[in-house]
Order: sequence, then C-alpha cells, then structure tokens
Amino acid sequence: MARRLEGAPFATEIRERVAADVATYTNEQGHAPGLAVVVCGRSAPSMVYLQRILKACADVGIVGTLVDVEGDDVATQEAALTAAIHQLNEDPTVAGIIVQMPLPQGVRLRAVVDAIDPMKDIDGIHPLNAGLLRLGYEGFVPATAHAGLEMIHRSGVELKGADAVVIGRSPVVGMPLAFMLTKEDATVTVCHSKTRDLAAKVRQADIVVVAAGQPGLVTGAMLKPGAVVIDVGINVVDGKIVGDVDLPSAEQVAGAITPVPGGVGPLTNALLLSHLMRAAQRQQHAKEHFEA
Ligand code: NAP
Repeated sequence: MARRLEGAPFATEIRERVAADVATYTNEQGHAPGLAVVVCGRSAPSMVYLQRILKACADVGIVGTLVDVEGDDVATQEAALTAAIHQLNEDPTVAGIIVQMPLPQGVRLRAVVDAIDPMKDIDGIHPLNAGLLRLGYEGFVPATAHAGLEMIHRSGVELKGADAVVIGRSPVVGMPLAFMLTKEDATVTVCHSKTRDLAAKVRQADIVVVAAGQPGLVTGAMLKPGAVVIDVGINVVDGKIVGDVDLPSAEQVAGAITPVPGGVGPLTNALLLSHLMRAAQRQQHAKEHFEA
C-alpha cells in the first residue's frame, strides 16, 4: 500500500517559517508585506480559491488586498486591469501581485501578464520568470508547480537519473515542473492530449506527475510498482473533489502518492505566501542597494 503524502503538515511548517519572516520584515520596515489579488468579475469559481489565499495571508500577518476591477466591455476591462496592475507595481507596500484566472472572455492574457512587474510576479506567470526557469536561473515559479516538486522531494525519491513522466504541458503546472525536474537531473517525458499510448509512457516512470484535469486518467494498472505519484488535478465529480488519479487502484501499486484533496493543494497555498515573502525581501534588498 502506498504511503500517502499529505500536504497539510508541510504547509504548516512553511507557514510558520513565513510568519516569522513576516514579523521580522514588519518590524524592520514599519509595515507588513502586501499581496494584491486583482480580480475582474467576482462570479468566477476561482473566487473561492482567492478568498482562501487572503485568509491565509491574514493568518501569517501579510496584508492581502482584493483589487476589484470593472469594465463594461473587453476593451475597458483590459485597460482597467493593466492600469490597476501598473499602479500596484508602483506601490511600495505591495510586494506581490496575482491576477484572477481565467480572465474575462476576450481579455488578452499576454497584455495582462506583461503588465506585472516581474519582481512582484510571485506566481511566476510573467515571460521573464518563465524564461529564467527555462534557462535554469533563479526567478519566481508557479506555486502549484513548486508544490508538486516539493512533494517529490519530501517523498524521498532520488531524482538524479530517475525517469519522470509529467502529464500536462500548461505554462502554470506541467511545463514548469518538467523544467524543474530536468534541472534536478531526472529524465523527463512530457505527455499531453495527443500523446500516443499514455499507459506505456507512465509504466516506465519512477515519478508520475498528473496535471491534466481528467478524473481517473491514471490508474493502478498503468503504474510501475513503487512509483511516486503526484496528483495535481482538481475535478468535481458528483459534488466531490477528486484528482486525475484513480486513488483506490493507484495506491495498491504506487510507493507514495498525494491524495486529492489534501495533497498538493494545501502546499500550493503555503508556498505562494513564501514567494510573497521572498519578493518583499528582494525588493527591500534592491531598495537598500539603490539607496547605498
Ligand atoms: P490545463 O491548462 O487545462 O492543461 C491541461 C493539460 O493536460 C494540457 O496540456 C492537456 O493537453 C493535458 N491533457 C488533457 N487531457 C489529457 C489526456 N486525456 N491525456 C493526456 N494529457 C491530457 O490545466 P492546468 O491549469 O495545467 O491544470 C491541470 C489540473 O491541475 C487541473 O485539474 C487544475 O484544476 C489543477 N490545478 C491544481 C492546482 C493545485 O493547487 N493543486 C492549481 C492549478 C491547477 P494539451 O496541451 O494537448 O491540451
């Protein structure tokens, strides 16, 4: 039976560390670090996720602010979003900016993403941060991908030379994870909706990351015995949250597995807070350097 990799204990550890850093920063700077959550259209399902982030901020002493942007049509929405982001870029009390996704239909993702100051892009969506990751340099990476990697580390599996399969190639989960695993010397295969014989690819993997948004995509019969399985998927089936992995069959074969809910999700949230704190510290250093 696979060991379950629960996210909550790791998340608590990270939050405690962030809370201590926030207290030091607040003491030194005279104000707490701020996170701005930019939203356009409050009805999106991601509102629940964003409210959870704001609550998590409050718990560790970060000032989380919801910046509500309005517009009557696509053009005014896009203009209002980019204007709000430019204003937040200039605000020294705001260390990090995240934007509610998906954007309203028709608003260009690239226009909004490009507006974010890369130093405040704590979820690693700006092309500069994506490029830094691609080249193996330090920048901000998407919190979900970071959480997936952290879970792999905490499983204890040796990454060097390991065969890893990442299912999903999105810029927020699959691709960043593939780059991070490659940097740590795993041999990575990226699979997607056009991949032929997914089962054959998965069967040779020591590490399987699933981020496809397809419930039951990976089953125990597809896995190599002892594999580490990281389920990033979040799906609602019959009113219940499930991942992309068929947990009952997979845990009979895997060596370690993240459950959904309770695996990658809680860690994502905690890591986003740690990114915010890192952004605040970097901006503080940059300011001191500039003033010196
Ligand atoms: P996405 O942008 O929709 O990307 C899904 C990827 O999966 C695409 O690359 C797609 O291939 C691939 N795919 C879809 N069906 C497939 C199939 N049958 N076989 C193989 N590959 C398939 O989604 P995302 O934003 O990366 O999110 C992925 C999942 O993670 C979702 O369930 C999402 O809710 C969840 N998520 C979780 C967290 C968390 O904190 N745990 C955070 C963000 C997202 P193509 O490229 O060919 O279309």
